[in-house]
Amino acid sequence: MKIFCVGRNYAEHAKELNNPVPKRPLIFCKLPSAVLLRGKPLFHPEFSENIHHEVELVLRVCRNGKHIAERFAHKYYDQITVGIDFTARDVQAELKKKGHPWEIAKSFDGSAPVGTFIPLEEAGPVDNINFSLLKNGETIQKGNTRDLLFSFDYLIHYLSKHFIIQQGDLIFTGTPAGVGKVEIGDVLEGYIGDKKLLNCKVL
Ligand code: ZN
Repeated sequence: MKIFCVGRNYAEHAKELNNPVPKRPLIFCKLPSAVLLRGKPLFHPEFSENIHHEVELVLRVCRNGKHIAERFAHKYYDQITVGIDFTARDVQAELKKKGHPWEIAKSFDGSAPVGTFIPLEEAGPVDNINFSLLKNGETIQKGNTRDLLFSFDYLIHYLSKHFIIQQGDLIFTGTPAGVGKVEIGDVLEGYIGDKKLLNCKVL
């Protein structure tokens, strides 16, 4: 299983971190050991004072492909959920300054909680999917796929130019605005529409 992530795929989020809106998708990867399933908690790493939540829609790839045309891309994913791209923002800021890769800020153990997958059609039309994140019962991030800079189909097309995509691969499709710090004891819940699909406690 590979885990692809897309940075800065919602303009409002790029702006809140003073990043330019990208002309091409910004791609990075997480390791399989970053994934948390079935409501497992994140153990707050000791190397960061500023772990941020980034709620994201996550696609599951359902067939293998390479060089996929955008018009056929919809055949390559059929399930969706919400996930959190936990980011050690303080560590990432240091790495960005030096132009270094992001893995230690983005791919630490537990940095990728993934919710329960549902069939794509249950989430509604792909260009109008609402999703949100609650922290301790309060909504802190809200997104809708109409605001994506790069659509799911374009992401599949673009990724498959560079990498074979394989059944079971996951794609974190980017976070909307509202990212912020989590503390030990916080409970995070992720929704698509009114369906709760993700639960993650920070310990
Ligand atoms: Zn992200």
